[in-house]
Amino acid sequence: MKRRPVRVVFALFTLALIFCVLTCTRAQRIESGATAKLIAIRAGSLVDLSGGQIINNPVVLVDGEKVTAVGQNLTIPSGARVIDLGNATLLPGLIDAHTHITYHFDEAGHFGSSNDSSPEVTLRYSEENARATLNAGFTTIRNMGAIELVDLRLRDEINLGATVGPRVLASGLPLLANFLPPNASKSVRLTFVREFARARIREGADVIKVFEGVYDDGSPVFSADEIRAVIEEAARSNRRVAVHAHEAAAIKAAVRGGCTSIEHGSFLDSEAIRLMVEHHTALVPTLYLPTHYLEHRNIFDFPASAWTLFERMRAHNMENLMRAKRAGVWIVSGSDAVAGVHGHNFREIEWLVKAGLTSAEALRAATVDAAKLLGMEGEIGEVKAGKFADIIAVEGDPLRDIGALEHVLFVMKGGRVVKAGNR
Ligand SMILES: [Zn+2]
Repeated sequence: MKRRPVRVVFALFTLALIFCVLTCTRAQRIESGATAKLIAIRAGSLVDLSGGQIINNPVVLVDGEKVTAVGQNLTIPSGARVIDLGNATLLPGLIDAHTHITYHFDEAGHFGSSNDSSPEVTLRYSEENARATLNAGFTTIRNMGAIELVDLRLRDEINLGATVGPRVLASGLPLLANFLPPNASKSVRLTFVREFARARIREGADVIKVFEGVYDDGSPVFSADEIRAVIEEAARSNRRVAVHAHEAAAIKAAVRGGCTSIEHGSFLDSEAIRLMVEHHTALVPTLYLPTHYLEHRNIFDFPASAWTLFERMRAHNMENLMRAKRAGVWIVSGSDAVAGVHGHNFREIEWLVKAGLTSAEALRAATVDAAKLLGMEGEIGEVKAGKFADIIAVEGDPLRDIGALEHVLFVMKGGRVVKAGNR
């Protein structure tokens, strides 16, 4: 069968893509109004992923939004509120580096945010998704594409405390090949992609998302020069560029252009892997999503070519990832959460383990290593003095059984308890 990944991508992204010119200020990542009260959290153990060790009988001291001290049996200051989580295991709040927080099932149970009557309706669904995501222990997400600025609006609502959800880094509208003016010259295309990136930054995007692909002749849709132009514009505002790419030729153009991460990277060849190691490009392999679609085939309306692609991805993506891992590629967890995955974002971490990562490696991909991709390594990804108090607790030992992540007992985000109980 003739492969047309670009068209498949467009078919998947069947949303009414509309340019908006609303101007939003970039989100404050620091929430206002956090409690000033000192909190001491006790638990059975703490997984210290950066140090590679387990701390037994940990005490975590939290003052306002930040962790102030972590250690075994620390003295609890008088007057501190004590949260005793018994035998539970503490972990840093999880990070999902690739979500579609605006995607939801409609009232008839079908997939399709494109059918919403207004962006306000999509925003309401997104709020539900955000709550489910946070309750599942994901305290930070990076949203990879939304129309009508809905993901930016959700982020701003959360930062204002108007709705409950994870920290959100949002891309807003992604760059798609069919936005390019038809038959444009090289210089017109370069100008277009630069202006596209500038427009997203003016709107308040935290990250720029590009949908790379290949034409029917196998050549990349966006050249390395075009990707580089997007990156240069993003870098002026200290923003990074994430590139969706499945085919090796698309991945190579994006990596040569200098993108920070390859999203999916489904069909790597050895040259693509070598380039990713050389350029220190992160891979967000989104392993679980093809399985999600294929196991819920009746509720997702996709063309036959899309189902063929999902079958190919499911058949190859674990081995593809392990080749990258063995070569030393930086791996970050991103669930590609669409309708039905919000609140089940842990599936991706489980699939990383199924593919062959150790539980510790998979957890790093969803914490410390993801924080680096987001440029937030000084703020999140570890339970450590000076960082945000994004802390979760699970029953059992996730290093022995990654399935422990399915039952998150406790979630604290920025010093605020957002989930407690269910023991
Ligand atoms: Zn995606």
